[in-house]
Amino acid sequence: MERKTEKVLGYDVDLTTLSGAVDYIMGKIMNKEGMQIVTINPEIIQLASKNSTYSRILRHADFVIPDGSGIKLALKLKGIEQEQIPGIDLALEVIRSCSEMKYSIALIGAKEEILQTTAKRLKNEFRGINICYMRNGYFMPDKEEEIIYALKEAEPDFVLVAMGIPKQEIFINKCKNVINNAAFIGVGGSFDVWAGAVQRAPEFFRIMGCEWLFRTFKQPERLKRIYNTLPVFLIRAIIDSIRTNSIFRKRGKND
Ligand code: UDP
Repeated sequence: MERKTEKVLGYDVDLTTLSGAVDYIMGKIMNKEGMQIVTINPEIIQLASKNSTYSRILRHADFVIPDGSGIKLALKLKGIEQEQIPGIDLALEVIRSCSEMKYSIALIGAKEEILQTTAKRLKNEFRGINICYMRNGYFMPDKEEEIIYALKEAEPDFVLVAMGIPKQEIFINKCKNVINNAAFIGVGGSFDVWAGAVQRAPEFFRIMGCEWLFRTFKQPERLKRIYNTLPVFLIRAIIDSIRTNSIFRKRGKND
């Protein structure tokens, strides 16, 4: 299946739908083609602009999902209508498909209690689920190698890493160097939501593309993160859209 992408501030973003993304990922899982899925949002882009390792990882990602309403807006400024695909919804749909098709999954991240509750709830929800590996997200860097080799030994098809940005993408990148036949996705605080420790935004906020607003109400400490990223991201996105808009492009020789 061909990818259709558009650049947002220099990073390829896949133009797809929730079901299109699930099909694409399942196709890769069936063919045992390893992949790193990034659920991109303004915070990730702003972080990458200050961190060259993270930036390189984003550029080499195999599938980049437009999570976050800021990405949807940046694409709209370029005249592209793209739906917002929450990473948490995408991950759950892929887990559903993996359970039905007997592909194994691994869960890495969050606190031990949250991880255990997440596994329990997923087992209740998806009967055929095969969780072949689990590890909480609090380990020292010197444990990484051991964890990566234990994960490889477990032979997972789909690996969810819930350690927050940029930790999860950097860890996935290291895993990918050793395990080249599994699909990896960074899912941030999704285990906290699945375990019931953090409330997901009500449908109204989701439909309005304001899930971030709800999360900020619930976790005011997030305000600083948004304040530090969103305004600059929006200004950069506007400048980028003006630059790439054909009206403002330099005319070629034959124009
Ligand atoms: N976390 C982890 N290891 C760490 C730091 C964080 O496993 O060293 C977990 C944390 O327990 C939480 C998740 O990573 O479950 C981060 O959630 P957050 O909502 O901050 O992620 P975001 O989606 O905003 O990146």
